[in-house]
Amino acid sequence: MKYSRTIVSLSPSATLQLSAKAKELKKSGRDIVSLTAGEPDFPTPDPIAEAGIRAIKEGKTGYTASTGITELKEAVAERYSIRRNISYTPENVVVSCGAKHNLANLIRSAVNPGDMVLLPRPYWVSYPEMVKASGGIPVIPEKGINAEEILIAADNGAVGLLINYPSNPSGYVPSEVEMKDIADAVADTEMWVISDDIYEDLVYVEGGVPHILDYRQELSERTAVVSGVSKTYAMTGWRIGYALANYEWSKLSGILQAHSTSNPCSISQWAALAAVEGKADKEKSEMYSSFRKRRDLICSLLSDVDNIEFDRPEGAFYVFPRLDAENDTARFCSELLEEEGLAVIPGSAFGAEGYIRLSFAASDDDIREGVTRFKGFLRRRYNT
Ligand code: PMP
Ligand code: GLU
Repeated sequence: MKYSRTIVSLSPSATLQLSAKAKELKKSGRDIVSLTAGEPDFPTPDPIAEAGIRAIKEGKTGYTASTGITELKEAVAERYSIRRNISYTPENVVVSCGAKHNLANLIRSAVNPGDMVLLPRPYWVSYPEMVKASGGIPVIPEKGINAEEILIAADNGAVGLLINYPSNPSGYVPSEVEMKDIADAVADTEMWVISDDIYEDLVYVEGGVPHILDYRQELSERTAVVSGVSKTYAMTGWRIGYALANYEWSKLSGILQAHSTSNPCSISQWAALAAVEGKADKEKSEMYSSFRKRRDLICSLLSDVDNIEFDRPEGAFYVFPRLDAENDTARFCSELLEEEGLAVIPGSAFGAEGYIRLSFAASDDDIREGVTRFKGFLRRRYNT
């Protein structure tokens, strides 16, 4: 049988593949520490879980409008109208099966075959594949992006830009000056922007994350904001994300969704409504405090490891050290897993060969044991 050349050309998701592999090895009885997963290790807070249970008991189990229940779209529109100081209405909102699904819908709705889309490096693993799946061409400058790279890409015909701060995999948060430069440069082009804000509530620096729309409000006409409940409310398995975009872009995403998945799970939508309405804000801040402490813990442990360099992550739950002497991190990670039972993600998955990603969405014990194994592995490897 002949398959789609486009789909055959896509790489598997290294993040999903490696977290699944670590879980499988653990299940088979091997002593594995997994710092792979980009998902909170906490259960979904009770008030949210209870809203889900109530939805089942009240029979809210049929199809909903395919872009989501009005109550949730209203709550999302209200929250982001306040957050971004832009007046969003429910018609700007599409609720999808996870933020990943929103991203795929938006990209698919904006990209024509051969269109170039600018992606800053390191990028989240799925962006280039989503662009390629839509027939587009990812354009990935060697270093991160700045105003110059944006203007060059636009001159060369790039139609869109995808940004993600705090960044997965590096936890990077740009400065105000940097973000203003990005916003000004985009405003001088006709490029659309997707701002993947899934880690917006997991920020460890004062003042939060500078946002492109805070500098150039008029860009809201061609900037889609993507977020969701997966990370902030420990709801990765419920599969609810949302996007806010102009009416046309939202409408197109909605049409695509109606012909592919229909509505995201009705029960999960009612649970997500409790989250967006703030019913679990106490639990949310407790989880946030844990992530903050774990960030401090992993950074202090890693500062005692030779042969690596890293920047302290300012958001999300990843640290992204550069290994001094490695240029095949896929192999490095597979040897690390084989010899030490420590699972992490190679930087090659994020377009950053020579780096590895360690997730600190893990218990303190796993973080301690993981770094001990990592340190021991490097010592033996380099005889230090
Ligand atoms: N964007 C980034 C940068 C992510 O790390 C993730 C994590 N899965 C997503 C989007 C997708 O989130 P969701 O689980 O809601 O689909
Ligand atoms: N986003 C998470 C990660 O990067 C979950 C895995 C995925 O969706 O790819 O690990």
